[in-house]
Amino acid sequence: MDTEEILGYLSGRGYILTDHYPSADAVFINTCAFIEEAQQESINTILETASSLGSNKTKIIAAGCLVEVFGKTLLKKIPELDGAIGVHSYRQLDQFMDKLFEGKRALIKHRPSEEYQSIASRILTTPVYNANVKIADGCNNRCHYCMIPAIRGPYRSRAPEDIKREVEELVAGGAKEINLIAQDTTAYGLDQTDWPDLTGLLEEILSIPGNFRIRIMYTYPSRINDGLIELIREENRICKYLDIPIQHCSDEVLIKMGRSYRQQDLENLFRKLRRQIPSLAVRTTVMVGFPGEKGYHFKDLLNFIEKQKFENLGAFIYSSQEKTPAGGYDQKVPARIAQKRYKTLMMRQKKMSRANNKKYLGQRLPILVEGKISGDGAWYYGRTEYQAPEVDGLVFFPASKVLKPGSWVSAFITAAGPYNLMALRPAPVDSMPR
Ligand code: SF4
Repeated sequence: MDTEEILGYLSGRGYILTDHYPSADAVFINTCAFIEEAQQESINTILETASSLGSNKTKIIAAGCLVEVFGKTLLKKIPELDGAIGVHSYRQLDQFMDKLFEGKRALIKHRPSEEYQSIASRILTTPVYNANVKIADGCNNRCHYCMIPAIRGPYRSRAPEDIKREVEELVAGGAKEINLIAQDTTAYGLDQTDWPDLTGLLEEILSIPGNFRIRIMYTYPSRINDGLIELIREENRICKYLDIPIQHCSDEVLIKMGRSYRQQDLENLFRKLRRQIPSLAVRTTVMVGFPGEKGYHFKDLLNFIEKQKFENLGAFIYSSQEKTPAGGYDQKVPARIAQKRYKTLMMRQKKMSRANNKKYLGQRLPILVEGKISGDGAWYYGRTEYQAPEVDGLVFFPASKVLKPGSWVSAFITAAGPYNLMALRPAPVDSMPR
């Protein structure tokens, strides 16, 4: 989203955008600081870009979260970097670019604003039929391992009329799937006295006519309430899909992580969700190797995951961040053990995902067509409502007619792997089928 806003801002100021960076005057590298792996990947991208540009005069600019944390150090340690701009400074891009083209190295960082600020109309980096819509920025949860609240600031909901206007524009432009995102979508509106909460916001979005579906990403388990569950169950245009990162299930680990729920709360939540929305697909994220995670905590996590049978699961290995409370924790888990736990977990989930996917066999499911496999006859791919873009699997299916990306078909699921599904006999339909 930050990238899309930077692109929108620059293009609005007359800059010409290109993805062929060696011929550009400047290249932006949007960085991430969430975990060590992401930080290293950002630094590697800067170094690789610098190396591929050689003596080329293209300005190299680091933008985003890593700049908030290590801006000065980045400029000091990477002489090829011409400038760095933090996440709260994109409104000052004009002055920043002027400085750069005067030949000065520039670093701009500001404190987060008190209210949600979107800087410009953005340019989508996703296909037009599938768009992310940011509903808030920042986070008040203060998980002990996470730098995001320090980087992005406190939670600021975006005005509901602003969100609605953007969804209307996206739908008018051909969007068929709207993914609502924020650091915590379920905290929406809670920082304001008279704004709707997430359920109210969804109702406002649903008042927009159109043939699109809504997907809710990045929820916080203890804020999924009965009103939200009921709306997801009743409303055809909301995907029967929830992304609920739990991080862990063991109470001792959850307490050390600063997460506000306990295993019993999770058990109650998933029981209720499965009972009330039988077709719901749940995606979760868990972390292994958090300081103090013992073998028995990890076994508890494996058992919990087997019991809950999540349709999709992502995992990552804890990495220590100096500026977080957990950065000072002792009882660090050796890297070798954390790696082993990660592999064990992913192997276990692979088996379960395959078993889970089998429940779709024989069902005729609506699919949003995303594209054609090049050079492979008439095979297409798309996603059901149970698969989120980029993080989950796809459905592959043959079709005798030409299908446009962003169109709907319904097809019979005939094979299921751990990630992807295969379907046959797709029938094109004019509207989102149910
Ligand atoms: S809810 Fe997410 S973004 Fe917020 S502090 Fe926790 S991990 Fe970080």
